[in-house]
Amino acid sequence: MQVPAFFEYQRATSVAHVVTLLERFGPEARIVAGGHSLIPMMKLRLAQPELLVDVNDLHELAGITVEDGVLRIGALTRHAELLASPLAGEHFPILHDAERVIADPVVRNRGTIGGSVCQADPSEDLSGVFTALRAVAVVRGVDGDRTVPMREFFHGPYETAVRPAEILVELRVPLQPGAGSAYVKVDRRVGDWAVAAAGAVVSLGPGGVVEQVGIGLTAVGDADFTAVEAEDLLRGRVADEYTFAAAGEAAATHCRPVADQRGPVDYKRHLAGELTVRALRDATARAHRGGSTE
Ligand SMILES: Cc1cc2nc3c(=O)[nH]c(=O)nc-3n(C[C@H](O)[C@H](O)[C@H](O)COP(=O)(O)OP(=O)(O)OC[C@H]3O[C@@H](n4cnc5c(N)ncnc54)[C@H](O)[C@@H]3O)c2cc1C
Repeated sequence: MQVPAFFEYQRATSVAHVVTLLERFGPEARIVAGGHSLIPMMKLRLAQPELLVDVNDLHELAGITVEDGVLRIGALTRHAELLASPLAGEHFPILHDAERVIADPVVRNRGTIGGSVCQADPSEDLSGVFTALRAVAVVRGVDGDRTVPMREFFHGPYETAVRPAEILVELRVPLQPGAGSAYVKVDRRVGDWAVAAAGAVVSLGPGGVVEQVGIGLTAVGDADFTAVEAEDLLRGRVADEYTFAAAGEAAATHCRPVADQRGPVDYKRHLAGELTVRALRDATARAHRGGSTE
């Protein structure tokens, strides 16, 4: 049986309390939210924190609201809450597309949005989603809040812009009226981690021309989860199958998958291209319907 190394445990009573504990214990302290990634890593001794700071009582960190044209998702919001949120689905169907294919109900009931992006596993679905959405992370430390665009949030596998004595408080997504969004994933069996996945957010102008676009790629090796070459190619061109194919080719060419038990490099590269096309197709169809899934 695998058991973690010895650690101390504190249940935080406020966000300020979290920051104080993290400051006092330094990098050997870790926040625990859903525990679905951290606890298995501790059991395998891949992580050996001296102190776990439990944030599960901090209800001010949970919840989904729209304020001043921004969708705000608290870091402690559970996957299941995001999946059940009409507000999230109404503005950004990509969130529901992704949540439907993340793990299973047991994981979704406990795992959090903050834990997902802070884990920064290259296969984490929401990393690609929030990158496509150009979300902004709000991070709190002793000096107060600072914001980090999601495109600058990921510093590599399991590394983020969140410093040792900071906590991710929420993710903010500026509303994009009329934009369509979608997420598609290939996994080996239902609920598994992605072999590859792609998300797209598309805003159309007159004549069906792409005005703004965000593409996020999951599990194909891009440290920042973006496909900027494909985005650059799309802007200003008519959103049709010809353009989607060119964007898919750009995404496939520039991604950097590694071979593992989920498949060889060529297969993953092919998937990155094909899934980019499908995500763009679905997002564009939704944009033509004013952003909705109906
Ligand atoms: C069987 C299984 C299958 C899964 N399948 C998928 C899948 O298909 N797709 C997918 O995307 N995910 C999948 N997951 C992961 C799931 O999404 C978890 O929710 C996620 O890994 C971490 O969320 P958590 O709340 O459990 O984080 P935790 O395990 O509690 O924490 C993870 C990391 O984030 C840090 N952290 C947590 N909250 C904060 C915060 N507010 N501020 C700063 N740092 C913080 C912790 O210190 C730790 O380093 C799976 C997990 C399991 C167990």
